[in-house]
Amino acid sequence: MSEATEEVYAALKHSFRGRLMQPDDAEYPDARRIWNGLVARRPGLIARCNDSSDVQAAVRAAASANVITAVRCGGHSLGGFSSCDDGIVIDLSPMRKVQVYEEDRSARFEGGCLLGSIDSATQTVGLAFPAGVVSHTGAGGLVLGGGTGWLNRLYGLSCDNVRGFTVIVADGSIVRANGKENPDLFWALRGGGGNFGVVTEFEVTLHPVSAVLFGRGICPGDEAPALLRHWRDIMPEAPDNLRWGFSLRSAPHAQNIPAYLRGRPIASASALWVGDLEKGGRYVDRALAVVNHQAVSKEVLSFRALQTLADSEFPHGRRYYTKAGYFKTLSDESISTMMEALATNPSLSNEIELAYLGGAAARVAPGETAFGDRSSPFVLNLLANWSDPADDAANIAWIRRLFARLRPAMAPGVHINFMSGDEADRVSEAYRERWERLRATKTMYDPRNFFRLNQNIPPLTAAANGISG
Ligand SMILES: Cc1cc2nc3c(=O)[nH]c(=O)nc-3n(C[C@H](O)[C@H](O)[C@H](O)COP(=O)(O)OP(=O)(O)OC[C@H]3O[C@@H](n4cnc5c(N)ncnc54)[C@H](O)[C@@H]3O)c2cc1C
Repeated sequence: MSEATEEVYAALKHSFRGRLMQPDDAEYPDARRIWNGLVARRPGLIARCNDSSDVQAAVRAAASANVITAVRCGGHSLGGFSSCDDGIVIDLSPMRKVQVYEEDRSARFEGGCLLGSIDSATQTVGLAFPAGVVSHTGAGGLVLGGGTGWLNRLYGLSCDNVRGFTVIVADGSIVRANGKENPDLFWALRGGGGNFGVVTEFEVTLHPVSAVLFGRGICPGDEAPALLRHWRDIMPEAPDNLRWGFSLRSAPHAQNIPAYLRGRPIASASALWVGDLEKGGRYVDRALAVVNHQAVSKEVLSFRALQTLADSEFPHGRRYYTKAGYFKTLSDESISTMMEALATNPSLSNEIELAYLGGAAARVAPGETAFGDRSSPFVLNLLANWSDPADDAANIAWIRRLFARLRPAMAPGVHINFMSGDEADRVSEAYRERWERLRATKTMYDPRNFFRLNQNIPPLTAAANGISG
């Protein structure tokens, strides 16, 4: 432990209510691990906070000792922003309380919640918070970055459904941000990521969702271009209730996949309908009747089953690398480039994900929240997913090469939730016309850039450039 980290430990050890873990602690090896196995860091101290007074104490002690500090909720940052070498991790994992207000269709949840903790509580009364598609993801990072998922065409992004935040800012004080109090901070926290402080509580709007209709099928690679062209042409007119998207990948060697397709390029389609199930049946059937889908299934699922469907595809500890962006229109050439790339795909788990945003998320005015672009409806997420460190270079290169080939046809912008740790130069691209206002807000709440392990928005102050770490 460095001298500065020792200083933080000494400042906290008598009054801290949670756990302070140092590298020689038995629990440390587990506690330091984050979801992405590609990112292995060794913090000097993990401060596992029980409550907001622990968070306040940790922020004050770390700022006063000028120690690099990471904030962790679910630890799912693709870039590994919730850990650091030598410094401090403010770990919110014990802070997972959720209170649901059924009459008001709202909830308050603590800053360490996973999506699954929120769904478990809200589904007891048939309500849902629009968030991501894997239940072990942290709500902290996901909501602050914007947050897309199954419900965003119908009910908007996660950040569009936040009514208010309680935040511990860089000087350790507690600030509330909502429509009436600190409106600039409220604006910035809806999409601006972890730049402005530690959010200890989110107050959010819920929506009635219990059962949904979910269809799946796979389409052989040679028929995928026709399917994607059809999808591209009809989605602009599709009802918000329909979320239809694809994972372009190599077919897994699974029993439900016809033997002749295993290991070969496919488009794996998912079509979700939220709302009147009978009406939805017609849309889901139609989606899966385009071209020759195989292994077709259609079922009514509980919302919780939907939210955990993809959990096992993204286990903790594997190695992941991603690049993302948007298309305003999806050209035949881009479709061919994606399908061609599958011929050299180094891992069966790698995916080219295509989603169509639009709907309620796109109807929020561009200046209303800090979240980046909403006007380019085709969302691309290139995700490499492998296990052997010897395959790092091949997988990372595959993603980078494909991204470089697609980039000229893409619109500027990126959803920060899907950025890797090597894309600091794309943060301003994510925010574009919102960038200067975000920098001004950052300067007001964090002039020394204490919260900088994130998709960083640098403050305008010179002092921020001199901070060590
Ligand atoms: C398996 C998987 C599935 C995903 N699915 C989706 C999806 O469907 N939709 C989507 O939009 N994104 C998705 N993502 C991306 C995800 O939203 C981001 O990786 C997000 O940062 C994860 O949040 P976390 O709290 O788990 O991360 P962490 O690694 O804990 O934190 C990420 C960043 O957020 C900051 N942060 C976290 N909590 C707080 C807090 N309470 N206060 C202040 N700052 C905080 C951290 O400092 C860090 O900079 C997924 C990621 C994974 C790994």
